[in-house]
Amino acid sequence: MLTIALSKGRILKETLPLLAHAGISLKDDPESSRKLIFDTTRDDVKVVIIRAADVPAYVNHGAADIGVAGKDVLMESDVSGLYEPLDLRIACCKLMVAGPVDGIRANGRLRIATKYITSARRYFAAKGEQVDIIKLYGSMELAPLVNLADCIVDLVDTGNTLKANGLMAYEHMADISSRLVVNKASMKMKHDVVKPFIELVSEAVKQRGHAS
Ligand code: AMP
Repeated sequence: MLTIALSKGRILKETLPLLAHAGISLKDDPESSRKLIFDTTRDDVKVVIIRAADVPAYVNHGAADIGVAGKDVLMESDVSGLYEPLDLRIACCKLMVAGPVDGIRANGRLRIATKYITSARRYFAAKGEQVDIIKLYGSMELAPLVNLADCIVDLVDTGNTLKANGLMAYEHMADISSRLVVNKASMKMKHDVVKPFIELVSEAVKQRGHAS
């Protein structure tokens, strides 16, 4: 049995066509169903739907053999025992430092509001900048507007959310996309199933790249 961990929303929507190329379709609609475990058109494959931030833990501990997680989630996660064999080139965006369009008037240490505290800490430490990091769980764009922080670290796609809030991107930290992750033991023990699966999904990624 092969268990694949996915999360609802953008990742699920864009991953399902890639799974279809590997002959895997869910028997129920995951967007409307309250189920957490889904049977698929392949008897030897099931799909679990979990929170995006939980995908690395499920795969690391072997509760799922394979998962799809954003690079942002992987960079924040403290698990290190995963293979990351394939960039699915979906849910693409950038991790950026952003702040008010009229600049920062900070005296003293820069206050950074973010959900991505590990990535932010690492980034500013590498630049040799001492900063205060404020952990938030969402709506980071609000923080500079109410003087909770001088700037934010957040995902940016079109830039519309920044613009709508009088903010702009200052620095590009990383390119983000969703990655296929594989449990290390599953890669060895279930190689005869996992390897062809990765190859089929990889083929689907390439075909989609040519089509767009
Ligand atoms: P945008 O206005 O298109 O720049 O999108 C920015 C908003 O969407 C921010 O709140 C981001 O946190 C979120 N966002 C953008 N891209 C992604 C992504 N690939 N995955 C998750 N959230 C995203």
